[in-house]
Parts: sequence; structure tokens; C-alpha cells
Amino acid sequence: RAKRGGKRGHVRYLQEMETDSRRRAGLIAALRRAIERDELHLAYQPELRLADGRIAAVEALLRWDSAEHGSIAPDEFIPLAEETGLIVPIGEWVLDAACRTLAGWRRAGVDPRLKVSINVSALQLLRSELPDAVAAALRRHGLPASALELELTESVLMDNAALAGDRLRAFRDLGVSIAVDDFGTGYSSLSYLHRLPINTLKIDKAFIDGIASPDDHEDATITTTVIAMARTLGLQVVAEGVETAAQLAFLQRNACDIAQGYWISRPLAADACLRFLLDAQAGAGARLDRAGAPA
Ligand code: C2E
Ligand code: MG
Ligand code: MG
Ligand code: MG
Repeated sequence: RAKRGGKRGHVRYLQEMETDSRRRAGLIAALRRAIERDELHLAYQPELRLADGRIAAVEALLRWDSAEHGSIAPDEFIPLAEETGLIVPIGEWVLDAACRTLAGWRRAGVDPRLKVSINVSALQLLRSELPDAVAAALRRHGLPASALELELTESVLMDNAALAGDRLRAFRDLGVSIAVDDFGTGYSSLSYLHRLPINTLKIDKAFIDGIASPDDHEDATITTTVIAMARTLGLQVVAEGVETAAQLAFLQRNACDIAQGYWISRPLAADACLRFLLDAQAGAGARLDRAGAPA
């Protein structure tokens, strides 16, 4: 960027950098007040079990509608929250809000086997308080530990190997499930993952994008290999970012356990998600028919 346009380009580059760092500072200041100003909420994305058409889980995804900055994508504000440590109070808010929503849904008649899954950052995992905070949130909302799943990315687990094992064992002892998010992007060693008490692998969308496309055999091969490997290790497999009927059909043919993505449902506001869940319970299997697959 700086090279193009010589001196003038250079000045422009410095101006852009200044704009970026002002925006950053502004976002961080606003993020500090986001909880008290009630600007955060959760969207919930259903995960479909392919064997029986049941919605097995919903993933809670954080949304921020800032009064000053408008709605900001998680890919922009989560890194800022991580750098500043704000992810710790924000993560506690997420845990509480997700448990509260699930408890309300259960009272409204949602299948008690439904899990809610929340994303956990490195900083949250490293703090020794996390297992107690999780246990307290479950107790506060009258939920069993089996109703909660925590998603940790492969790189978070790899980069924090020493402590990750301790924390994961604490969660296993509580009865909370653990999923490895964005699997396939973090170069984790299988021999390491195998020793951790993990329940689920979520295959990254990057691989799902390429399956069922006639000129991309690599992604399809990687996906079927991960499914086979997970089977051997006794893990459940979720495919993320399923956007087409062809991808869903591929995953069913290859015995993937669960699919998540826009084809099944976009992330939904809590009330819309409740309607989705109750409709799905009333006509389980209908979603599979839609993809033209055997019910
Ligand atoms: P993730 O945990 O891998 O979540 C999946 C992301 O893919 C979500 O983006 C979801 O909306 C999007 N997605 C799902 N299905 C499809 C699809 O079919 N097509 C496409 N194009 N996208 C799909 P989102 O909500 O923007 O979140 C981005 C990332 O931000 C998440 O990736 C997660 O790493 C992080 N994040 C979100 N909420 C939280 C949170 O409460 N705490 C923490 N620590 N991180 C969070
Ligand atoms: Mg996730
Ligand atoms: Mg993911
Ligand atoms: Mg992802």
C-alpha cells in the first residue's frame, strides 16, 4: 500500500493507519460499556443430527449492536475483547445468557436433550475460575451439566497444552462436553488431542466449502478422513458451514453425525430459535427430506 503512489501514497498510508487505530480505540472504549448498556445479545444456530433429523444442539454466537458504531461483526470485536481482557467479563455474560435462554426454552417444552454450545477464548480457559463459573451458571439456571458444551479452537488447545489438559479434565468431571472448533486449521497433533477428554470435532467450514464440488477432491477426502478418524477415537463429528443440499447429502452418505450451516438455519434470535426448535420437534426429519435425502 505504501509503495503505490510514492510520497502521496505514503501519507495516505499513514492516514489510514491513524484511522484504523482511532477506530480500534473507539471500539475498545465502547466495548468496555457494552454490557452495562445492554448492547450484547446472542444469536443461536441449530445443529442437525443426520441420523434422526433431531436438532441436537444450538451454538450461541455473540452479537454486538453498538449505539455509536452500529453492529460490529464478532471477527472484528472478539479479537479486541481478547487483547484487552474484556473477553473475561463478556464471556461470563455469554455463559449466563446462554444458560438463561436454554432454561427458558426447556420450560417452553424444548426437548431436554438439546445442548447449548458456547465459544470459549484462550484467556477464559487459562483462568482457574472457569470451571467454578460454569458450575455456578448451571446451578443458577437449574440446568444439568449435560446441557452445556464448550467450544475451544484447535489452536487454543495446542498453544496452551499444559493447562488445557487440567481444565478439560475439570469439565469432564463436571459432565460438560468439549468440542474442538475449526478443526483442521490448527495443525494439532492427533496424539495430543487423543489424550484430552474431548467429545466432538467440528470440521472447519473451509473444508466443507470444497466438498461435493466436482473439481475439488481434496476437501472431500479430508472430510471423510476426519469422519473416519473421529469414529476410531470415539468422537462425534460436526460439519460447520453447510450451505447446500449437495454438501448435506455428501455428509449423510459419509456418516457425519451433525451438520450446522445456513442450509439448515442461519443463526437466529432467541425467540425465532424457540419457534424453530418447537417446529422441528413437531415434524422431526422434515429438514432431511428437504435435502432430498431418505428420511
Ligand atoms: P465459530 O465459532 O467457528 O462460529 C461459526 C461462524 O460461522 C459464525 O460466525 C456463524 O454465523 C458462521 N456460519 C455458520 N454457518 C455458516 C454458513 O453456512 N455459511 C457462512 N458463510 N457462515 C456460517 P460469527 O457468528 O460471525 O462468529 C465468528 C466467530 O466469532 C466464531 O466462529 C467464534 O470463533 C467467534 N465468536 C462468536 N461468538 C463468540 C463468543 O461468545 N465468545 C467467543 N470467545 N468467541 C465467539
Ligand atoms: Mg464455534
Ligand atoms: Mg467453528
Ligand atoms: Mg469457524
